Amino acid sequence: MAKIKTIFVCNSCGYESAKWLGKCPACNEWNSFYEEKLAKNSDGSFSEGKKTKSAKPSKLNSVEGKEAVRTSTGVGELDRVLGGGIVKGSLVLLRR
Ligand SMILES: [Zn+2]
Repeated sequence: MAKIKTIFVCNSCGYESAKWLGKCPACNEWNSFYEEKLAKNSDGSFSEGKKTKSAKPSKLNSVEGKEAVRTSTGVGELDRVLGGGIVKGSLVLLRR
């Protein structure tokens, strides 16, 4: 999930501030600040939240399940519980 940064922008002159100000220090306008949310990109820069890409939903029957590489644990009972063995790259917590 993208991190969201909130800034306040003067409606009159575009002055940006990290906190809400009653009076703009740049153009001396009162109550001109509005809240703007910026989404943090992976490269550390910020872009306007509305411009961020939204994930496209895909139909369930169009999603192909990849066959997992399973490694036998050597314990038949455990292999059966795990569906044939431990999946490569996965972590299984065992407790008795
Ligand atoms: Zn201003």
